[in-house]
Amino acid sequence: MISLHTSPLEQPGSGDAGGMNVYVVETARRLAERGVAVDVFTRATGPAQPAEVRPAPGFTVHNIAAGPFGTLDKHTLTRHLCPFTFGVLRTEAGADPGHYDLVHGHYWLSGRAGLVAAQRWGVPMVQSMHTLARVKNAALAAGDTREPDVRLRGEDGLVRRADHLVANTADEARQLGSHYGADPSRVSTVPPGVDLDVFRPGPRADALRRVGLPPDAVLLLFVGRVQRLKAPDVLLRAAAALLERDPGLRDRLVVAVVGGLSGGGTGEPRRLADLARSLGIEDNVRMEPPRSRAELAHYYRAAAATVVPSHSESFGLVAVESQACATPVVAARVGGLPTAVRDGVSGILVAGHDPADYARALHRILAEPRLGARMGAAGVAHAAGLSWEATVDGLIGVYRGTLAGRRALPVAANQ
Ligand code: UDP
Repeated sequence: MISLHTSPLEQPGSGDAGGMNVYVVETARRLAERGVAVDVFTRATGPAQPAEVRPAPGFTVHNIAAGPFGTLDKHTLTRHLCPFTFGVLRTEAGADPGHYDLVHGHYWLSGRAGLVAAQRWGVPMVQSMHTLARVKNAALAAGDTREPDVRLRGEDGLVRRADHLVANTADEARQLGSHYGADPSRVSTVPPGVDLDVFRPGPRADALRRVGLPPDAVLLLFVGRVQRLKAPDVLLRAAAALLERDPGLRDRLVVAVVGGLSGGGTGEPRRLADLARSLGIEDNVRMEPPRSRAELAHYYRAAAATVVPSHSESFGLVAVESQACATPVVAARVGGLPTAVRDGVSGILVAGHDPADYARALHRILAEPRLGARMGAAGVAHAAGLSWEATVDGLIGVYRGTLAGRRALPVAANQ
């Protein structure tokens, strides 16, 4: 696997580390358990990092030195694509010939390195885009910057040249066709999953205590990288609208924003704090640093609802994790969220980003405790169908099919 711009060993929830890190770790670990050895190539971000780390038997992470240490903006990383690709090839050159059977690229930058490696090694290339520039550009939040042309061209080339594409949702599979002209026979939909051992229901009062809140607190939760695209501001405005409607909640309502700075959104936490002040809800808002997965589970269990108001979201692991903990989700009807959340059953999907609509949905859940409980139970059932084991079944199917397709080609076409 190639995961150039973000290491699977990083704490998700800040910088460029998010759902894709979780995806790479969860699938690599489980593939290795099933006897499919996985080497993940990522860019080294510190001089003290060893060249090779083995998080589990059969799962190795190679830290490739390419460009300056430290976290680099995604857009700067294109400049370090060549040294990174060279580092991947050099590492493989030190291994036994025919070491790898297949390359799986995660995100377009990795895909570009992966194409070269796969061609050099004479093995097939599977690509997961995770997000698509054309789709992102069509749904930009106000003030957000467009994805650059180099990415659009990079994605076009990958769609043309990868042996197979993996989409997270049926919607993404359609977008690969409609926005990039992908041949549907070369696209498979394999939904990501959720770790059902970590994210499971538990008593709310106990969870509230563990996150440092009193038992009568009403917690509205945002989890994710704090950036415009994820629209935490919509939650703050919705909370203010909710308090206007129900002033009795003022002393109990807590809005927790769990996650760290991310790329272009580095001014975002201050902007959110300013917004909270201007809305008069600064005493109700808690900005929390990125939390481990086990700690996050307490937040989900403690929350009355998790809010995912993103402008664009390729899948939305947070929505599934929340449901697995029996907490209803109020989410924007975009991208993968209609797959991740069962509208009216395990949560409420909202069209657009008008805070008043989110406030209405939250009011319904808060005002009707039985509805919240019913949605919570339905969420657990829905999340149970989205396990990482199922994702890995899907990936193994794709790998097998791609390898078989390659073997069926005449030798010249294989090169
Ligand atoms: N996450 C985390 N700690 C945090 C915030 C987020 O572990 O403090 C994880 C979260 O549990 C989820 C991932 O980061 O698994 C975010 O994935 P999602 O698909 O929701 O968004 P993305 O980051 O891919 O845009």
